[in-house]
Amino acid sequence: MSKQTVIFILLLIALVLSAPLWYNSSEEDPLKPKQTGKTHETVFLTTPKGDEKATYVSNSHPQNVIFMIGDGMGLSQITAGSIAKQDGLALEKFRHIGLIKTYSTKLITDSAAGATAMATGSKTYNGAISMNVKQQNLKTILEYAEEDGWVSGVVTTATVTHATPACFYGHQPERRKVNRKLAAQFIAQDIEVLMGGGWTYFKDGPDGRDLIEEAQEKEYFVTNNIEQVGDYRPDKMLCLISPQLPPKVKERGNFLPLATKKSIEILDHPKAGFFLMVEGAQIDWRGHENKSSLLIEEMLDFDKAIAEALAFAEKDGNTLVIVTADHETGGYSINGGNKKTGEVKGKFTSDYHTATMVPVFAYGPGAESFTGVYDNTEIFFKLKHLMQVDKKNIQ
Ligand SMILES: [Zn+2]
Repeated sequence: MSKQTVIFILLLIALVLSAPLWYNSSEEDPLKPKQTGKTHETVFLTTPKGDEKATYVSNSHPQNVIFMIGDGMGLSQITAGSIAKQDGLALEKFRHIGLIKTYSTKLITDSAAGATAMATGSKTYNGAISMNVKQQNLKTILEYAEEDGWVSGVVTTATVTHATPACFYGHQPERRKVNRKLAAQFIAQDIEVLMGGGWTYFKDGPDGRDLIEEAQEKEYFVTNNIEQVGDYRPDKMLCLISPQLPPKVKERGNFLPLATKKSIEILDHPKAGFFLMVEGAQIDWRGHENKSSLLIEEMLDFDKAIAEALAFAEKDGNTLVIVTADHETGGYSINGGNKKTGEVKGKFTSDYHTATMVPVFAYGPGAESFTGVYDNTEIFFKLKHLMQVDKKNIQ
């Protein structure tokens, strides 16, 4: 066999052996995410009835989570805000959207059971503050985060002891007439930021305690005016803007977006992740009052807070922002209006909550976990998995 033939055969063999190298690189789809281990998995959760239920969740892990609740904010409330704003809501920038079922032990939930479901993963009775049907405490996602070394905060346009905010730090069998008890439960926790109304419940009370004083002893910077704080960045802040229920947005001014921005500033630590809950509470109150134009004002105010959270997350790149509702209020629908002028003619079918599913908007690492139709309790299990705050149960 001639020398040339031998060389030719050797070249042929080398060519065949190296084919996979040059064939794959040219064919691979550049957009296809790099397969670095499992990107998604199914997390099993045990329902109150004890049966297993799977929830879809991705394997990306955000450093920070901003969880935003528009109380009573259904799709019509969002649409009305979008028509009125005309140049688009911040909410319209979210790409990952899902729908949740909001029922409690009743078809129509209240805010206490709705927030308990999302904060603890358990269905409970209307009126319960992060307690189960046997009136046992249910550990909240915020408590898991604190225990795992995260810093945390709660911001609301209601009193800070109102049902929704209280479900993240407190535990009570009944939501009424427990403001003082909840204020004391807050002081017993180690949450860095609390902003909203209700300083009456922290002042010196029948139990002989002055919870404002105790907060100052625990090194909270205490104020009743967010605008006064300016660039000051305390480690811990208690901002109580009204004696009891805060006023409507017209009187309240820019409190909610400012409080959201300041909370992020305070909680954004290089060494610890943060969990922040922000509630736009008065969308619900205007729904109960069947006041369409005032409802839209509260929706636009909440959207400004969403814009603050999104602006931070876009810059930070490691923050998951979730925007959802505990239920829809008023059976609100849009029956007329004018897209050019932003006028909205809204109608109501009820002065209470409804059972209509509500949307979930997600942005950031893990956002894809919140698409699809699922139960409000699954939000807790998705967050717990994404935040990896339940060390004991991490596979
Ligand atoms: Zn309500």
